[in-house]
Amino acid sequence: MRQKTFVRSNWGVLGSMFPFLWPKDNPKFRIRVLISFVALIIAKVSAVATPLFMIWSVDSLAIDGVNETSASIIGMGSLSLVVCYGFMRLFSVGFNQLRDGVFTIVGQRALRNMAIKTFSHIHALPLQFHISRKTGALSRVIERGVKGVDFLLRFLIFSIVPLILELIFVAILLLIRYDWIYVLIVFVTIFFYTWFTFWVTNIRVRIRERMNRSDSDANQKAIDSLLNFETVKFFNAEKREIERYDSSMAGFEKASIQTNISLAYLNFGQSVLMTAGLVGVMILAANGVSSGLLTVGEFVGINAIMLQLLMPLNFLGTVYREIRQALTDMADMFRILDQPLMINDKLNPVILERVSGEVRFNNVNFSYSSSRTILTKVDFEVKPGQILAIVGPSGSGKSTIGRLLFRFYDVDSGSIHIDGTDIRELKQSQLREFIGVVPQDTVLFNDTIGYNIAYGYKNASFEDIKKVTKAARLFDFVNGLPEGFDTVVGERGLKLSGGEKQRVGIARTLLKNPKILLLDEATSALDTETEKKILKGLIPLFRGRSVISIAHRLSTISSADKIIVIDEGRVVEYGSHSSLLNERGKYFRLWNQQLNENI
Ligand code: ATP
Repeated sequence: MRQKTFVRSNWGVLGSMFPFLWPKDNPKFRIRVLISFVALIIAKVSAVATPLFMIWSVDSLAIDGVNETSASIIGMGSLSLVVCYGFMRLFSVGFNQLRDGVFTIVGQRALRNMAIKTFSHIHALPLQFHISRKTGALSRVIERGVKGVDFLLRFLIFSIVPLILELIFVAILLLIRYDWIYVLIVFVTIFFYTWFTFWVTNIRVRIRERMNRSDSDANQKAIDSLLNFETVKFFNAEKREIERYDSSMAGFEKASIQTNISLAYLNFGQSVLMTAGLVGVMILAANGVSSGLLTVGEFVGINAIMLQLLMPLNFLGTVYREIRQALTDMADMFRILDQPLMINDKLNPVILERVSGEVRFNNVNFSYSSSRTILTKVDFEVKPGQILAIVGPSGSGKSTIGRLLFRFYDVDSGSIHIDGTDIRELKQSQLREFIGVVPQDTVLFNDTIGYNIAYGYKNASFEDIKKVTKAARLFDFVNGLPEGFDTVVGERGLKLSGGEKQRVGIARTLLKNPKILLLDEATSALDTETEKKILKGLIPLFRGRSVISIAHRLSTISSADKIIVIDEGRVVEYGSHSSLLNERGKYFRLWNQQLNENI
């Protein structure tokens, strides 16, 4: 049953490649595929004709009267036959190269399109998918999948399919010029050869896996041990570490020896089977010659045919192993393409001509998984030009509100409206165009500060960049750097401090110039002094926008128009700073708590 599923899924994987190799919208590429197929057939016919001309050349040279027959059949002299033999060889190589040349652009474009399709699909997949996968592993899946396709194209299309074609032509030739018994021997030889190769290769794959495991085990132990250099010294444990490393190396040594021995076994076994087939056919042919049924040329020819056919099979083991690996890697890649998008645009989405930025949450209920409700009946609105602050304990669901507004997830019930339109009715790209987010942890691209700020708006001028950098209180810092805006920020922006990263995040969002601004603890990594300065500088920029500001430090949001207090996913208080203080509820307690902490 498992075998059956495996086979079926492999066919499925191969089928998934088809649209890329036979693109509907590209007739030129289809013509190329057809030309390369015709070239393949000519190459293979020439390959099979090569030994045929050898037979005729040998026979035309034979002085024995009996052997004149085959040369006289085609009515050519021995010199012309040798020249034709040469041409056939040339055709076989030449058309093979032509096929490669014509097909290569189709193959390469297919690889590119597959990589692009997977990459864009991954970008379209929901946040939930991304946070539960390792990014490194994901990019490896694309890399390996595309390599797998490349391998399969080269070996399956350029070596297995031609081999099968050649087998068919040779079988026809053998039936015409020789006898069915020759065909039988050739096929029996190939059958046992293939079976033996697959059998040994399967064993070798397992040995190789063991070898790889021991290798990475040894590697990991070595790295771990060297990283813990001091601990090893503290405990005088060098000997113990070396023994641990050696035990993995011993496993690697054993598996390596088994790999080499099994290779020798494979090579010798293949040779025995090939020689048996070859000798069997030659004994038959020798008999044929002595009984006058075959010519000397045909005796020499059968040897050439057999060698020509069996030689490429030498690589069958490697090809089989690699194809297995390629199919597994491709299946991983196609599995990603099969992942549903979850958040889809409507077929006819609403396009808003002008957006003022009014946000309304209507009785929103939401949970990441069915077992735990995160938001319950969340209800509020923000008008353009207003600042709404969201406060509440850690884990109460504040950032989740932002994720829902940005439509990383859809609400379970209730609705979110922008300018009166349910955000599910809008095109996601348009929705995200008019919302700017400064997240809790700003992650930067490993490029220059200038590049990271300009990411907010790709046509930004240097003047624009300077303006927002000043508003984010970052300009003096960047100007003071030896390389200024060209300073590279390192992986994920790690060469900058938390506060500097946040300010880059603010600057690039300001550059985006959104109608709705979502600040998710955007200044939490800054000292109170800088935070105050930034906020003072930002207030004028807030004009005309709806601002939602999530904050822990209440002092930063006391001037907000409205404040909502969230607790365990519910809005428990709602009002201005002074009215909430008057209520003497949760906000009042939080405020006093923070006042006391600051004293
Ligand atoms: P903080 O102030 O610490 O940033 P928060 O109020 O912004 O907290 P959220 O990030 O909205 O809290 O998270 C609310 C709850 O949802 C948390 O308990 C968190 O563990 C949970 N949560 C967040 N993201 C996911 C997710 N992708 N899958 C499952 N649970 C999640």
